[in-house]
Amino acid sequence: MQNEYPITAQATAGRRERPVVALVVPCYNEEDMLPVSAPQLLALLDDMVAEGIASADSFILCVDDGSRDGTWELIGRLHAKDHRLKGITLAHNRGQQSAMLAGLMTVRPMADAAITIDADLQDSPQAVVEMVRLYRRGYDIVYGVRASRSSDSFYKRASARAFYKLQSALGLETIYDHSEFRLMGRRALDILEEYPERNLFIRGIMTSIGLKWTTVTYDRCARAAGETKYSFGKLLSLSVDGITSFTAKPMRLIFGLGLVLLLLDVVISAWVLISHFGGNAMSGWASLMLSIWFLGSIILIALGIIGEYVGKIFTEVKRRPRYNIAESLMD
Ligand code: UDP
Ligand code: MG
Repeated sequence: MQNEYPITAQATAGRRERPVVALVVPCYNEEDMLPVSAPQLLALLDDMVAEGIASADSFILCVDDGSRDGTWELIGRLHAKDHRLKGITLAHNRGQQSAMLAGLMTVRPMADAAITIDADLQDSPQAVVEMVRLYRRGYDIVYGVRASRSSDSFYKRASARAFYKLQSALGLETIYDHSEFRLMGRRALDILEEYPERNLFIRGIMTSIGLKWTTVTYDRCARAAGETKYSFGKLLSLSVDGITSFTAKPMRLIFGLGLVLLLLDVVISAWVLISHFGGNAMSGWASLMLSIWFLGSIILIALGIIGEYVGKIFTEVKRRPRYNIAESLMD
C-alpha cells in the first residue's frame, strides 16, 4: 500500500491550528493500571497544549467495558479530580472493538481528532504527539505500527504473524503490525459512522475507507500493571471476525476445490476403468469409485455456487457505504 500523498490546501482547510484531541481508552478490569496511566495521559495533554499543537479543550475518554472490578468507580474519582478525564460505561462487557466504537462515536461531535490507545500504555505516548503533528499536516488517519515485538511472548508473536499473513493471502488490506493504536480525524470518524454492521473489526474498516493515511512506528513496551485482558478465546474470535467480516473468499475456495477435484476425477476414472477392464478389480469397486469422485466434486462445486450467492447476500446486508467522499469544492 502506498501512503505518500500530496497534501493539498483543501486537505488542511478548515483544520484548526490547535485541534481538540480526544484520547479514547477502552478499559476492562483496569483498576491496577488506570491510576498509573491516567496521570501520564493527562501530562501528555499538557505537553501537547504547551507545544501549541492541541487545544486546551483536548480530553481523555475512558470507556469502561463492563468491568467487574472497581474500574468505573475509579474513573469517577479521576473525573472528579480533573474534568478533562471523562468516562462512559457500557452495560456489559462487549469487547475492545465495541468499547472503542462507543468511545469514538461519543467523542465525534466534540473532537477534531480521536486517538485510540490501550489503558496499559503499551503503546507509546510519545507516538501520540507525532500522530497529532501528522494530523495537522493534513493526514486523516495515522496508524501506530510496532517497530518490534520483543515484549510479546513467542506464542503471541507467532499467532499474530500467522493472522496477518492469512489476512493478506485472502486479499484484505492490512497494515502489518498495527493493532488499535491509531489517530482518526473527524472526516474518518464521520465515515466510520456510516458503517452500520454489527460485526466490528475497526482496523479493517479503516483501511477500506481510504483517505490520506500514514504510519508512525514505535516500540511497544510490556504492560506495567495488571495482566492481558485477551484470553485465547477472545483473540481467536477477533481473528475469525477480522477475516469473515471482510471477505467471502473462503467460499470461493470451495468452488475452486470442486473444480480441481473434477479434473482429478478424469484421471482417477481412467485408472479405475483400466483396472476394471484389466480384470484386477473386485466387482462393485469401479462403480463405487467412479460415483464417489464424481459426486464429491459436483457437491463441492454446487456448494461453491451457493457460496457465491451467500457472499453477495453477506456484502449486501452489511449496507456499507458504496463510496466515501474525502473532499469537495461545491460552494
Ligand atoms: N479491553 C476491553 N474489553 C475487553 C478486553 C480488553 O476494553 O473485553 C481493553 C483493555 O482494557 C485494554 C485494551 O483493550 O485497554 C487492550 O487489552 P490488553 O492490553 O489486555 O490486550 P493485549 O495488549 O494483551 O493484546
Ligand atoms: Mg495490552
